[in-house]
Amino acid sequence: MNNPIISVRNLVKSYGQFQAVQSISFDVYEGEIFGLLGPNGAGKSTTLEIIETLRSKTSGTVVVDGIDLDKNPSAIKKIIGVQLQTSGFYPGLNLVELINLFGGLYNRAVDPIELLRKVNLEDKAKNKSKELSGGQRQRFSIATTLINKPKIIFLDEPTTGLDPQARRNLWDLIREIRDSGTTVIITTHYMDEAEQLCDRIAIMDKGKIIKLDSPDKMIDELVASGFERPKQVKSANLEDVFIQLTGHEMREDA
Ligand code: ADP
Ligand code: MG
Repeated sequence: MNNPIISVRNLVKSYGQFQAVQSISFDVYEGEIFGLLGPNGAGKSTTLEIIETLRSKTSGTVVVDGIDLDKNPSAIKKIIGVQLQTSGFYPGLNLVELINLFGGLYNRAVDPIELLRKVNLEDKAKNKSKELSGGQRQRFSIATTLINKPKIIFLDEPTTGLDPQARRNLWDLIREIRDSGTTVIITTHYMDEAEQLCDRIAIMDKGKIIKLDSPDKMIDELVASGFERPKQVKSANLEDVFIQLTGHEMREDA
């Protein structure tokens, strides 16, 4: 498991005088869900887009599956799946047609229905993406990352704006993708999401990685340092109440 599939060393991104990414280094292991966790403006998307070959870096090295970004970015493109904003999908095409279109771009034969089944959208095969709910649209955009059978997929805040059921459903899908052997790198600003979903996380703030470990180890370390929560914490929270009342299952339109 501890085989790095992405190695980032001393990565810097400057926009004029401003350094959005300030010499960060980390490895992503093969087969894990790796999270970049941090507030807005921390530099998460910039870091992701550099590794995805979509944005230039100022300095540092990035190696993806043994391929040096400086030497062969197009070879990296072939082994990764990048989530696109669904707003950019051709509005006139249905889901099957969109998958066939992407398959053509990647030069890959795909079975659209099998792919839609993976993300639980078979019954929407003939619908257009604008007819999907937020959660469905996110599942569809994750499906499009899988078309070229990538070794690694990149998800930039995939659950932002979703309701609790749709978020949990998406977490399950992301875990299934990991369990089927694809490495996942995800950004989020939700602590609960990072804790529940990620095998390891890098906490980013103002362009720097300030901590990198498994969520469990980070919490244990904090507790061992003598930290105590200021008041007795209840063993459930309002989200638990909500899920208990409304159920785990997806809504018709979720
Ligand atoms: P995050 O994804 O963590 O919210 P970003 O990587 O999008 O953060 O942005 C990091 C910082 O870089 C922010 O302060 C943002 O305003 C700045 N930034 C991002 N893109 C540009 C750009 N094209 N030009 C100038 N500054 C940018
Ligand atoms: Mg971002």
